[in-house]
Amino acid sequence: MDTDRTGEWSKGLVMVYTGNGKGKTTAALGLALRQIGWGRRVLFIQFMKSKDNVYGERMAAEKYLPLLEMEQYGQDEFVDLSSPGDRDAALAAAAMKRASEGLSSGEYGLVVLDEINVAAACGLVEVEDVLALIAKRPPHVDLVLTGRYCPDAIMAKADMVSEVREIKHHYAKGVPARKGIEF
Ligand code: ATP
Ligand code: MG
Repeated sequence: MDTDRTGEWSKGLVMVYTGNGKGKTTAALGLALRQIGWGRRVLFIQFMKSKDNVYGERMAAEKYLPLLEMEQYGQDEFVDLSSPGDRDAALAAAAMKRASEGLSSGEYGLVVLDEINVAAACGLVEVEDVLALIAKRPPHVDLVLTGRYCPDAIMAKADMVSEVREIKHHYAKGVPARKGIEF
């Protein structure tokens, strides 16, 4: 098949999924699947999510997708966005360090920084540090940043920004988070 139609790998893109509707993390997972189909390794770093939680996507990676590495850097409890704690900050710093190493290693075709926009918006990570990550990525690496409230400075550096807007969500009529749908 002609791969040129989709461009050279050397023209990596920076893509943002933001907004208040459902579908940002799952969009990033969809891109991960596409890249894996082309034999590219994917590093999927999740800010503010806990290793102790069960996620269908992580089980899928462990069981069926050796090219997909998923890592969580967060606590069990939700982060208080108005005043994140020291533990939250330490975990976010560890996630940034791993993101930086993973990007500059050049080993991954796609790096996903899931919920990093929220971490930047609430001050858990510095917007400047996110911009530095974007600037230093090798040209063949595609980079995806997800999460609500994406700071303008990050969107300005992206090649693609999609805002998922809530029209309705089952949560509003009392449907709790469900396996296979939310996790
Ligand atoms: P998904 O992981 O399903 O793609 P998301 O990444 O777009 O969703 P987040 O903003 O990261 O959503 O929110 C995390 C969780 O909150 C998800 O499990 C999602 O189902 C839920 N959620 C997303 N949007 C809404 C909403 N508008 N109302 C209530 N819950 C929501
Ligand atoms: Mg999400």
